Amino acid sequence: MQKFKIFDGHNDVLFRLYLKNKKNAFLDFIQGDNEGHLDLPRMQQSGFHGGFFAIYVPSPEVGVIDSDKPVRYDDMEKDEYSLPLPDLLKADVALPIVIRKISLLSEIEKNSKGQVKVCLNGQELEQSFQDNKLAIIMHIEGAECIDENFYNLEALYRSGLRSIGPVWSRPTIFGEGVPFAFPQSPDTGGGLTDLGVELIKHCNDLNMIVDNSHLNEKGFWDIAKYSHHPLVATHSNVHTICPHTRNLTNRQLDAIKDTRGMVGVNFAPAFLRQDGKMLADTDIQLIIDHFKYLIDHLGEDHVGFGSDFDGAMMPKELNSVTEMPKIIELMQNQGFDHSLLNKICHQNWINLIKKILI
Ligand code: ZN
Repeated sequence: MQKFKIFDGHNDVLFRLYLKNKKNAFLDFIQGDNEGHLDLPRMQQSGFHGGFFAIYVPSPEVGVIDSDKPVRYDDMEKDEYSLPLPDLLKADVALPIVIRKISLLSEIEKNSKGQVKVCLNGQELEQSFQDNKLAIIMHIEGAECIDENFYNLEALYRSGLRSIGPVWSRPTIFGEGVPFAFPQSPDTGGGLTDLGVELIKHCNDLNMIVDNSHLNEKGFWDIAKYSHHPLVATHSNVHTICPHTRNLTNRQLDAIKDTRGMVGVNFAPAFLRQDGKMLADTDIQLIIDHFKYLIDHLGEDHVGFGSDFDGAMMPKELNSVTEMPKIIELMQNQGFDHSLLNKICHQNWINLIKKILI
């Protein structure tokens, strides 16, 4: 089988490494610790040559459950659920954690002997990807670390940040996200705050990507109204197939299509399955089903991967990045041709990023 090079919309490997709470965590990534879903050797072996690397801040009062987010997977095995979200986190609590993760990324890049590149614009990304480096776009999942005067935004931009999700579900001073709820519409609350609208304008001025994943529907429409960039959801699926708050309705997909934006398909079972359950025993054919629906609605040029590796439970057949060729093989068996696979695997993401990160 031909190997396709992959660029992915979302992973949380920086959080996995951060949780090790040790000085040389970057070496575990570079040398390969064989833990979780991602490390450099396994990524290289799988043709995984780039992606958005998320910086996420856990809520201290909740602690870390299921090795990751403050969301209990067993609560998501019920027929219906709506999980409470942690409280807003202040910038002075979030910022040191964000800085530690940026330093981790920087240590990875510096010690990678040229194998890893944190990319600052679309051209750099395309070149690094062509050169078979691991081409990284630095992303924050939840803008808690940005203060109301936006002083931190400029500093973070200069540190390499190029993509911002205004919320990770938990509320921020910029807006409200969706609670993890099934079955439910993503129209769960208010839209962006005035500061949120200001954040979008700053991101536009700096040519940064704004991510709609985790936002509620009103927030999505506010971004559609105030941003002049294509609409992006880095790791969200189809609400018609799986009516979870984290997924996108047909109206939202229409808006993404109108702006020539992107959707990255998330592999977490709760966002794939018709019954919304977070169960590892989930058929990876569902991933292909979401792709087919998105291609029907958006066309071939606006869909890619948004795995959520190291950030969520994966279907048991996908217990590491090394299993990704299984998805591509399934796609090939179901008539996805070479050109379409190239687009899905990386070209669509690279084209989108080149349009925004100029
Ligand atoms: Zn997420």
